[in-house]
Amino acid sequence: MCIFCEIANGNIPANIVYEDDQVLAFLDVAPTSYGHTLVVPKQHTESFLDCNPALLHHVMDVAQQLSNKLMNNLNCDGINVLTNVKEAAGQTIPHFHVHLIPRYEDSAKENVKFQFGEIDKIDVEQLVSNIIR
Ligand SMILES: [Zn+2]
Repeated sequence: MCIFCEIANGNIPANIVYEDDQVLAFLDVAPTSYGHTLVVPKQHTESFLDCNPALLHHVMDVAQQLSNKLMNNLNCDGINVLTNVKEAAGQTIPHFHVHLIPRYEDSAKENVKFQFGEIDKIDVEQLVSNIIR
């Protein structure tokens, strides 16, 4: 059984900040910032790609509510809401989870690095037709 299923079943302890019958949220064990939280469906689903839509919507509702709590109660200056899909994108646990990463102007409270470089010029019309086909 995967580690997030074990947490959802209560077999592995976690610092839980939200729970209902379908969704669980807990602090990341290797936080990249103060308050780094994971929101997961209790039912095993591998990633964002295969989560059933009703459950996905509920996960995102909880993610929004918790993001507002983090903003208001931790006084962070911003928040990154993201999910990694497959190993190439940094997904290390094959159980869908949404990261809530509070961001702070005070760099002592975070160690987050996102880098978005620009790729070489591409054929945009070809790209759009490849995406929407
Ligand atoms: Zn699982």
